Amino acid sequence: MEEIVKKIRQIPDCELSLGHDLTSFTTFKLASKGDLIEVKSVSGLQKLLKLLTEAKTGYLVIGWGANQILPSECEDFIILLDFAFNLQEFNELKDEYELPASVGLNHLTACAVKLGLKGWEVFTGIPASLGGAIFMNAGTNLGEIGSLIKKVKLVTPEGELREELITPSSFSYRKNHFVKKGEVIVAAVIGHHGVDTYIPQKIKEYLEYRKSTQPLATKNCGCVFKNPAKDLPAGKLIDLLQLKGVGFGDLRISPKHGNFMENRGKADWDQFRSLVELINFEMDHFYGIEFELEVKIPYH
Ligand SMILES: Cc1cc2nc3c(=O)[nH]c(=O)nc-3n(C[C@H](O)[C@H](O)[C@H](O)COP(=O)(O)OP(=O)(O)OC[C@H]3O[C@@H](n4cnc5c(N)ncnc54)[C@H](O)[C@@H]3O)c2cc1C
Repeated sequence: MEEIVKKIRQIPDCELSLGHDLTSFTTFKLASKGDLIEVKSVSGLQKLLKLLTEAKTGYLVIGWGANQILPSECEDFIILLDFAFNLQEFNELKDEYELPASVGLNHLTACAVKLGLKGWEVFTGIPASLGGAIFMNAGTNLGEIGSLIKKVKLVTPEGELREELITPSSFSYRKNHFVKKGEVIVAAVIGHHGVDTYIPQKIKEYLEYRKSTQPLATKNCGCVFKNPAKDLPAGKLIDLLQLKGVGFGDLRISPKHGNFMENRGKADWDQFRSLVELINFEMDHFYGIEFELEVKIPYH
């Protein structure tokens, strides 16, 4: 361990912090601790991944942590990207934008409002980094981000830079089909469908709708489960079983939205696991359905 720590500290643009409190690195804020590496350049990331791979050392990338739960003690290095980006680029209308993976979707939405970019309303209100949104093919009932992405740049575990040209089969519901194990998205080219003066209004209305239907002011991880089918929302099924408000300790199923869990204080990993088990037991018993987790859980 000492040797690898020394080598990581020699890589430019990589800042290592051992035993870091990672609780605030996910939106759910379950207590977590681990070794954090903040990476400020693609070249730094290339050197870092090559080193970790050669040393057979595990790592995990985190974006905004809006769809990820970290265990109380992380075994692997946690990598956080923080690439420079000049927001002035969003002042100019272009056919497509090449953006770093670490940029927040909130900035893209602000740009869509300013310029009226058609298509960019699909990710209205989703808390995410661009990299995390592409990895998850994040979307709303207005559409998915995958439909706008043209090219993705990634760093392989060997430290090579590679480009993926996006085709209609690159994504499916909340999934990408091209990020291979250990690869990290570093940038993407995103297009749009022209300019429409109605877009700012559409985004505003959709934000209002989200505020009224989701517990946005709470500590949560978005939708915990994938919908078992397009017209069968997991939240609706949980609601039908009257499980809203049910929980363990500081963790409960949101009274506002059945597919959200709220951490009302110091909820922990065990309480989360117990609540998932309870929901799946009830689902199986009454509907013969077992939910698949949408939220990402390392090591499970
Ligand atoms: C209040 C709330 C509302 C939400 N609403 C929605 C919604 O409407 N629609 C929706 O789709 N989602 C929603 N989510 C979930 C979440 O916002 C999305 O899944 C989002 O895409 C996660 O992005 P992130 O940057 O936080 O990624 P993280 O949660 O940090 O990571 C998610 C996964 O992506 C991987 N990853 C992250 N960055 C990279 C990278 N650069 N390269 C390779 N892999 C990477 C991680 O390792 C992990 O496996 C919501 C979440 C919250 C808290």
